[in-house]
Amino acid sequence: MSGGGQNGSIRHLPLPITWLAPELAALELPEERASSCASCPMAGAPFDPAVRCCTYHPSLPGFLVGRALRRADTGSERVLARLEDPDGRTGWGVRAPRAWQREYRRDREVAFGRRVSWRCPYWVEGPLSCSIWRDRNAVCRTWHCKHDDGLPGHRLWVVVRGLMHAVEDALARLCEARLGAPDPDAPVEVWAGYYLACAELVDRLEAEDLLALEDPELLSLRARVREVHGALHGEVPDVVAPQVAEVREHPDGVELVGYSPWNPVVLPRSVFVLLAELDGERPWREALERAVAADPSVQAGWVELLWRHGVVRRKSDPDATWGFEGDDLDPDTLDRVLSSG
Ligand code: SF4
Ligand code: SF4
Repeated sequence: MSGGGQNGSIRHLPLPITWLAPELAALELPEERASSCASCPMAGAPFDPAVRCCTYHPSLPGFLVGRALRRADTGSERVLARLEDPDGRTGWGVRAPRAWQREYRRDREVAFGRRVSWRCPYWVEGPLSCSIWRDRNAVCRTWHCKHDDGLPGHRLWVVVRGLMHAVEDALARLCEARLGAPDPDAPVEVWAGYYLACAELVDRLEAEDLLALEDPELLSLRARVREVHGALHGEVPDVVAPQVAEVREHPDGVELVGYSPWNPVVLPRSVFVLLAELDGERPWREALERAVAADPSVQAGWVELLWRHGVVRRKSDPDATWGFEGDDLDPDTLDRVLSSG
Protein backbone atom coordinates (compact mmCIF):
# COMPACT_ATOMS: atom_id res chain seq x y z
CA MET A 1 0.00 0.00 0.00
CA SER A 2 2.71 2.38 1.02
CA GLY A 3 5.10 2.03 -1.86
CA GLY A 4 7.90 2.14 0.72
CA GLY A 5 10.36 4.63 1.98
CA GLN A 6 10.45 8.17 3.21
CA ASN A 7 10.52 9.66 -0.24
CA GLY A 8 7.79 7.31 -1.40
CA SER A 9 5.62 8.37 1.52
CA ILE A 10 5.72 12.10 0.90
CA ARG A 11 6.60 12.32 -2.77
CA HIS A 12 4.03 14.20 -4.90
CA LEU A 13 2.19 15.65 -1.88
CA PRO A 14 0.86 19.14 -2.61
CA LEU A 15 3.31 21.63 -1.07
CA PRO A 16 0.79 23.15 1.40
CA ILE A 17 0.77 19.82 3.24
CA THR A 18 4.48 19.94 4.00
CA TRP A 19 4.30 23.67 4.76
CA LEU A 20 1.62 23.01 7.36
CA ALA A 21 3.37 19.90 8.67
CA PRO A 22 7.09 20.46 7.99
CA GLU A 23 7.99 17.36 10.02
CA LEU A 24 6.75 15.24 7.12
CA ALA A 25 9.59 16.50 4.96
CA ALA A 26 12.20 17.26 7.61
CA LEU A 27 12.23 14.07 9.67
CA GLU A 28 13.84 10.93 8.37
CA LEU A 29 11.11 8.35 8.12
CA PRO A 30 11.88 4.61 7.97
CA GLU A 31 12.32 3.08 4.55
CA GLU A 32 10.45 -0.08 5.57
CA ARG A 33 12.40 -2.43 3.37
CA ALA A 34 10.46 -5.46 4.62
CA SER A 35 7.26 -3.94 3.25
CA SER A 36 8.52 -4.46 -0.29
CA CYS A 37 5.37 -4.03 -2.35
CA ALA A 38 7.02 -4.92 -5.68
CA SER A 39 7.69 -8.41 -4.31
CA CYS A 40 5.00 -8.51 -1.65
CA PRO A 41 5.92 -10.95 1.14
CA MET A 42 2.26 -11.23 2.14
CA ALA A 43 0.89 -12.30 -1.26
CA GLY A 44 -0.27 -15.89 -1.02
CA ALA A 45 -0.21 -16.08 2.77
CA PRO A 46 -1.78 -14.53 4.67
CA PHE A 47 -3.13 -12.15 2.00
CA ASP A 48 -4.84 -13.02 -1.25
CA PRO A 49 -2.48 -12.02 -4.10
CA ALA A 50 -5.49 -10.67 -6.00
CA VAL A 51 -5.85 -7.85 -3.47
CA ARG A 52 -2.89 -7.90 -1.04
CA CYS A 53 -3.43 -5.04 1.42
CA CYS A 54 -5.69 -3.03 -0.92
CA THR A 55 -8.91 -4.44 0.54
CA TYR A 56 -9.75 -0.87 1.21
CA HIS A 57 -11.72 2.08 -0.09
CA PRO A 58 -9.72 5.19 0.76
CA SER A 59 -11.41 8.48 1.54
CA LEU A 60 -9.80 10.86 -0.92
CA PRO A 61 -10.03 14.59 -0.17
CA GLY A 62 -11.33 16.59 -3.11
CA PHE A 63 -7.99 18.17 -4.03
CA LEU A 64 -6.39 14.71 -4.32
CA VAL A 65 -9.32 13.54 -6.45
CA GLY A 66 -8.69 16.57 -8.69
CA ARG A 67 -4.95 15.93 -8.88
CA ALA A 68 -5.61 12.35 -9.94
CA LEU A 69 -8.17 13.49 -12.53
CA ARG A 70 -5.89 15.97 -14.24
CA ARG A 71 -3.17 13.39 -14.85
CA ALA A 72 -5.35 11.99 -17.64
CA ASP A 73 -4.09 8.43 -17.19
CA THR A 74 -5.38 5.10 -15.90
CA GLY A 75 -5.82 6.64 -12.47
CA SER A 76 -8.05 9.40 -13.80
CA GLU A 77 -10.14 6.80 -15.62
CA ARG A 78 -10.54 4.87 -12.37
CA VAL A 79 -11.51 8.02 -10.50
CA LEU A 80 -14.06 8.98 -13.16
CA ALA A 81 -15.56 5.47 -12.98
CA ARG A 82 -15.77 5.81 -9.18
CA LEU A 83 -17.56 9.16 -9.53
CA GLU A 84 -20.39 7.44 -11.41
CA ASP A 85 -21.58 6.13 -8.03
CA PRO A 86 -22.95 9.10 -6.04
CA ASP A 87 -22.62 7.25 -2.72
CA GLY A 88 -19.61 8.81 -0.98
CA ARG A 89 -19.28 11.69 -3.48
CA THR A 90 -19.21 14.73 -1.19
CA GLY A 91 -17.97 18.30 -1.00
CA TRP A 92 -15.13 17.05 1.23
CA GLY A 93 -14.03 14.47 -1.33
CA VAL A 94 -14.81 10.89 -2.32
CA ARG A 95 -15.48 8.65 0.64
CA ALA A 96 -16.20 4.95 0.80
CA PRO A 97 -19.85 4.03 0.15
CA ARG A 98 -21.83 3.67 3.37
CA ALA A 99 -22.59 -0.05 3.00
CA TRP A 100 -18.91 -0.71 2.39
CA GLN A 101 -17.95 1.21 5.53
CA ARG A 102 -20.37 -0.80 7.66
CA GLU A 103 -19.07 -4.09 6.30
CA TYR A 104 -15.46 -3.01 6.68
CA ARG A 105 -15.92 -1.96 10.27
CA ARG A 106 -17.67 -5.26 11.05
CA ASP A 107 -15.28 -7.66 9.30
CA ARG A 108 -11.91 -5.98 8.87
CA GLU A 109 -10.18 -8.02 11.59
CA VAL A 110 -10.79 -11.22 9.62
CA ALA A 111 -11.27 -10.06 6.02
CA PHE A 112 -8.53 -7.48 5.57
CA GLY A 113 -6.13 -8.65 2.87
CA ARG A 114 -8.43 -11.52 1.91
CA ARG A 115 -11.86 -10.38 0.76
CA VAL A 116 -11.47 -9.83 -2.97
CA SER A 117 -14.82 -8.02 -3.22
CA TRP A 118 -13.25 -5.27 -1.11
CA ARG A 119 -10.62 -4.51 -3.71
CA CYS A 120 -9.94 -0.78 -3.96
CA PRO A 121 -11.62 0.95 -6.92
CA TYR A 122 -8.24 2.45 -7.83
CA TRP A 123 -6.40 -0.89 -7.93
CA VAL A 124 -4.78 -2.01 -11.16
CA GLU A 125 -2.82 -5.12 -12.02
CA GLY A 126 0.96 -5.01 -11.69
CA PRO A 127 3.55 -5.11 -8.93
CA LEU A 128 2.54 -1.81 -7.28
CA SER A 129 -1.14 -2.05 -8.20
CA CYS A 130 -2.15 1.54 -7.47
CA SER A 131 -3.39 3.73 -10.30
CA ILE A 132 -3.42 6.84 -8.10
CA TRP A 133 -0.14 6.24 -6.29
CA ARG A 134 0.99 9.87 -6.59
CA ASP A 135 -2.30 11.08 -5.16
CA ARG A 136 -3.11 8.40 -2.58
CA ASN A 137 -4.25 9.53 0.84
CA ALA A 138 -2.58 9.56 4.26
CA VAL A 139 -3.68 6.03 5.11
CA CYS A 140 -2.26 4.52 1.93
CA ARG A 141 0.96 6.52 2.28
CA THR A 142 1.66 5.42 5.82
CA TRP A 143 0.35 1.86 6.05
CA HIS A 144 2.95 -0.90 6.07
CA CYS A 145 2.42 -4.59 6.70
CA LYS A 146 5.83 -4.88 8.38
CA HIS A 147 8.00 -2.34 10.16
CA ASP A 148 11.79 -2.53 10.11
CA ASP A 149 11.83 -0.91 13.57
CA GLY A 150 8.95 -3.06 14.80
CA LEU A 151 6.52 -1.55 17.30
CA PRO A 152 8.33 1.83 17.57
CA GLY A 153 8.14 2.10 13.77
CA HIS A 154 4.46 1.20 13.77
CA ARG A 155 3.81 3.86 16.41
CA LEU A 156 5.62 6.45 14.34
CA TRP A 157 3.57 5.72 11.22
CA VAL A 158 0.34 5.92 13.20
CA VAL A 159 1.13 9.46 14.41
CA VAL A 160 2.46 10.51 10.98
CA ARG A 161 -0.83 9.22 9.53
CA GLY A 162 -2.77 11.28 12.06
CA LEU A 163 -0.84 14.44 11.18
CA MET A 164 -1.06 13.93 7.41
CA HIS A 165 -4.77 13.15 7.66
CA ALA A 166 -5.42 16.26 9.77
CA VAL A 167 -3.79 18.46 7.11
CA GLU A 168 -5.66 16.72 4.29
CA ASP A 169 -8.89 17.22 6.22
CA ALA A 170 -8.22 20.92 6.85
CA LEU A 171 -7.44 21.56 3.17
CA ALA A 172 -10.49 19.59 2.02
CA ARG A 173 -12.74 21.62 4.31
CA LEU A 174 -11.19 24.87 3.12
CA CYS A 175 -11.89 23.90 -0.51
CA GLU A 176 -15.49 23.01 0.28
CA ALA A 177 -16.02 26.26 2.19
CA ARG A 178 -14.55 28.42 -0.60
CA LEU A 179 -15.89 26.64 -3.67
CA GLY A 180 -19.20 25.18 -2.47
CA ALA A 181 -20.05 21.59 -3.36
CA PRO A 182 -22.20 20.83 -6.42
CA ASP A 183 -25.75 19.57 -6.07
CA PRO A 184 -25.62 15.90 -4.98
CA ASP A 185 -27.46 14.87 -8.15
CA ALA A 186 -25.28 16.93 -10.49
CA PRO A 187 -23.74 15.03 -13.44
CA VAL A 188 -20.35 13.38 -13.09
CA GLU A 189 -18.72 16.08 -15.23
CA VAL A 190 -19.83 18.75 -12.74
CA TRP A 191 -18.40 16.81 -9.81
CA ALA A 192 -15.19 16.20 -11.72
CA GLY A 193 -14.95 19.93 -12.43
CA TYR A 194 -15.45 20.70 -8.75
CA TYR A 195 -12.64 18.34 -7.70
CA LEU A 196 -10.34 19.79 -10.38
CA ALA A 197 -11.07 23.26 -8.98
CA CYS A 198 -10.18 21.96 -5.48
CA ALA A 199 -6.79 20.81 -6.77
CA GLU A 200 -6.15 24.18 -8.39
CA LEU A 201 -7.20 26.05 -5.26
CA VAL A 202 -4.76 24.06 -3.11
CA ASP A 203 -1.98 24.73 -5.64
CA ARG A 204 -2.62 28.48 -5.37
CA LEU A 205 -2.81 28.72 -1.57
CA GLU A 206 -0.55 31.29 0.00
CA ALA A 207 1.02 31.74 3.42
CA GLU A 208 -1.88 33.73 4.86
CA ASP A 209 -4.37 31.03 3.79
CA LEU A 210 -2.33 28.43 5.63
CA LEU A 211 -1.84 30.51 8.79
CA ALA A 212 -5.57 30.27 9.42
CA LEU A 213 -5.30 26.47 9.44
CA GLU A 214 -2.56 26.30 12.09
CA ASP A 215 -4.74 25.46 15.07
CA PRO A 216 -3.65 24.05 18.47
CA GLU A 217 -4.65 20.53 17.45
CA LEU A 218 -2.34 20.62 14.46
CA LEU A 219 0.52 21.96 16.57
CA SER A 220 -0.05 19.19 19.09
CA LEU A 221 -0.03 16.50 16.35
CA ARG A 222 3.24 17.91 15.02
CA ALA A 223 4.77 17.82 18.49
CA ARG A 224 3.61 14.23 18.91
CA VAL A 225 5.28 13.21 15.63
CA ARG A 226 8.56 14.76 16.81
CA GLU A 227 8.26 13.01 20.16
CA VAL A 228 7.53 9.56 18.73
CA HIS A 229 10.21 10.02 16.08
CA GLY A 230 12.72 10.80 18.84
CA ALA A 231 11.87 7.49 20.52
CA LEU A 232 12.26 5.45 17.34
CA HIS A 233 15.75 4.17 18.11
CA GLY A 234 15.45 4.37 21.90
CA GLU A 235 16.99 1.75 24.16
CA VAL A 236 15.11 -1.13 25.73
CA PRO A 237 13.69 0.08 29.07
CA ASP A 238 15.33 -1.44 32.17
CA VAL A 239 12.34 -3.50 33.16
CA VAL A 240 10.11 -5.32 30.69
CA ALA A 241 7.62 -8.17 30.84
CA PRO A 242 6.29 -10.57 28.17
CA GLN A 243 3.15 -9.65 26.24
CA VAL A 244 2.95 -12.57 23.85
CA ALA A 245 -0.21 -12.47 21.73
CA GLU A 246 0.40 -15.81 20.00
CA VAL A 247 2.97 -18.60 19.75
CA ARG A 248 3.26 -20.54 16.49
CA GLU A 249 5.42 -23.50 15.58
CA HIS A 250 8.22 -22.73 13.12
CA PRO A 251 10.89 -24.98 11.53
CA ASP A 252 13.60 -22.80 13.16
CA GLY A 253 11.99 -22.73 16.60
CA VAL A 254 8.99 -20.64 17.50
CA GLU A 255 7.27 -17.67 15.97
CA LEU A 256 6.23 -15.15 18.60
CA VAL A 257 3.56 -12.57 17.85
CA GLY A 258 3.81 -9.35 19.79
CA TYR A 259 2.40 -6.14 18.33
CA SER A 260 1.44 -7.58 14.94
CA PRO A 261 0.40 -11.00 13.61
CA TRP A 262 2.06 -9.93 10.36
CA ASN A 263 5.43 -9.11 11.86
CA PRO A 264 6.30 -11.93 14.27
CA VAL A 265 9.82 -12.75 15.43
CA VAL A 266 11.28 -16.23 14.93
CA LEU A 267 13.70 -17.48 17.59
CA PRO A 268 14.94 -20.83 18.92
CA ARG A 269 12.78 -22.45 21.58
CA SER A 270 15.29 -21.50 24.27
CA VAL A 271 13.77 -18.00 24.09
CA PHE A 272 11.25 -19.29 26.63
CA VAL A 273 14.07 -19.51 29.21
CA LEU A 274 14.68 -15.80 28.68
CA LEU A 275 10.97 -14.90 28.69
CA ALA A 276 10.52 -16.69 32.01
CA GLU A 277 13.23 -14.47 33.55
CA LEU A 278 11.79 -11.23 32.14
CA ASP A 279 9.24 -11.03 34.91
CA GLY A 280 8.55 -7.30 34.90
CA GLU A 281 10.37 -6.90 38.22
CA ARG A 282 14.07 -7.50 37.70
CA PRO A 283 16.06 -5.45 35.16
CA TRP A 284 16.42 -7.17 31.82
CA ARG A 285 20.25 -7.30 32.03
CA GLU A 286 20.00 -9.34 35.20
CA ALA A 287 17.28 -11.51 33.66
CA LEU A 288 19.51 -12.09 30.64
CA GLU A 289 22.45 -13.18 32.85
CA ARG A 290 20.24 -15.66 34.65
CA ALA A 291 18.85 -17.01 31.36
CA VAL A 292 22.34 -17.43 29.84
CA ALA A 293 23.50 -19.21 33.01
CA ALA A 294 20.57 -21.61 32.68
CA ASP A 295 20.92 -22.08 28.92
CA PRO A 296 24.08 -20.80 27.16
CA SER A 297 22.33 -20.80 23.78
CA VAL A 298 20.34 -17.71 24.84
CA GLN A 299 21.66 -14.66 22.95
CA ALA A 300 21.98 -11.12 24.28
CA GLY A 301 20.51 -9.62 21.09
CA TRP A 302 17.20 -11.36 21.65
CA VAL A 303 16.04 -8.81 24.22
CA GLU A 304 16.17 -6.02 21.64
CA LEU A 305 14.41 -8.20 19.07
CA LEU A 306 11.65 -9.10 21.53
CA TRP A 307 11.29 -5.43 22.48
CA ARG A 308 11.09 -4.21 18.88
CA HIS A 309 8.44 -6.81 18.06
CA GLY A 310 6.37 -5.89 21.12
CA VAL A 311 6.77 -9.38 22.59
CA VAL A 312 8.14 -7.77 25.74
CA ARG A 313 7.05 -4.32 26.85
CA ARG A 314 6.94 -2.04 29.84
CA LYS A 315 4.21 -3.20 32.18
CA SER A 316 2.48 0.14 31.64
CA ASP A 317 2.38 -0.20 27.84
CA PRO A 318 -0.98 -0.93 26.22
CA ASP A 319 -1.35 -4.61 25.43
CA ALA A 320 -3.19 -4.19 22.15
CA THR A 321 -1.72 -5.98 19.16
CA TRP A 322 -1.71 -4.61 15.61
CA GLY A 323 -4.81 -2.63 14.84
CA PHE A 324 -6.33 -0.25 12.36
CA GLU A 325 -5.34 2.81 14.34
CA GLY A 326 -5.62 6.07 12.51
CA ASP A 327 -7.37 4.85 9.43
CA ASP A 328 -9.85 7.42 8.22
CA LEU A 329 -12.84 5.49 9.47
CA ASP A 330 -12.48 6.72 13.03
CA PRO A 331 -15.77 6.47 14.97
CA ASP A 332 -16.55 10.19 14.79
CA THR A 333 -16.07 10.42 11.05
CA LEU A 334 -17.92 7.19 10.46
CA ASP A 335 -20.84 8.13 12.66
CA ARG A 336 -21.09 11.54 11.00
CA VAL A 337 -21.06 9.97 7.54
CA LEU A 338 -23.51 7.22 8.46
CA SER A 339 -25.93 9.53 10.23
CA SER A 340 -25.93 11.93 7.30
CA GLY A 341 -27.69 9.56 5.06
S1 SF4 B 1 1.05 -6.28 2.00
FE1 SF4 B 1 0.83 -4.26 1.06
S2 SF4 B 1 2.35 -2.95 2.13
FE2 SF4 B 1 2.92 -5.10 2.50
S3 SF4 B 1 4.40 -5.50 0.88
FE3 SF4 B 1 2.40 -6.25 0.18
S4 SF4 B 1 1.58 -4.56 -1.05
FE4 SF4 B 1 3.27 -3.71 0.22
S1 SF4 C 1 -5.50 3.95 -3.31
FE1 SF4 C 1 -3.87 2.68 -4.12
S2 SF4 C 1 -2.67 2.08 -2.30
FE2 SF4 C 1 -4.64 2.84 -1.57
S3 SF4 C 1 -5.95 1.03 -1.34
FE3 SF4 C 1 -6.28 1.89 -3.40
S4 SF4 C 1 -4.90 0.77 -4.79
FE4 SF4 C 1 -4.20 0.45 -2.65
